[in-house]
Amino acid sequence: MADCIFCSIVAGDIPAKIVHRTESVVAFKDINPQAPLHVQIVPTRHIRDAAALGADDAVVLSEMVAVAKTIATDAGYDPEARGYRLVMNIGPDSLSSVPHLHLHVLAGRTMEWPPG
Ligand code: 5GP
Ligand code: ZN
Repeated sequence: MADCIFCSIVAGDIPAKIVHRTESVVAFKDINPQAPLHVQIVPTRHIRDAAALGADDAVVLSEMVAVAKTIATDAGYDPEARGYRLVMNIGPDSLSSVPHLHLHVLAGRTMEWPPG
């Protein structure tokens, strides 16, 4: 999609530190990390956000969650040991800033709850 930052990263038009790539998802380091590990996992196809997912998107959504586990585990944040947090922001009140579906993977520090 034109003028979409994350579509441009997927296409290689904007540089990013890619950590994982499959046919349907790309994972890259967040430009403004909020934890020692902060990665964005995005579908290669433009989807606005989690509220725009349809029944046909079940496979890509589950792949995003599976890739998150792989990345966190490979970085030493095993689910059964330290663990990690997954976040999806939707709409203005969530402070979502990029209208291309992305799954935040945050790990490496004790998180706060409730989130701000
Ligand atoms: P949101 O606020 O929409 O949930 O999250 C967007 C995230 O994308 C933010 O954490 C922000 O730092 C990250 N981000 C925005 N622009 C870029 C970029 O050009 N490159 C990378 N690597 N991350 C970006
Ligand atoms: Zn996009």
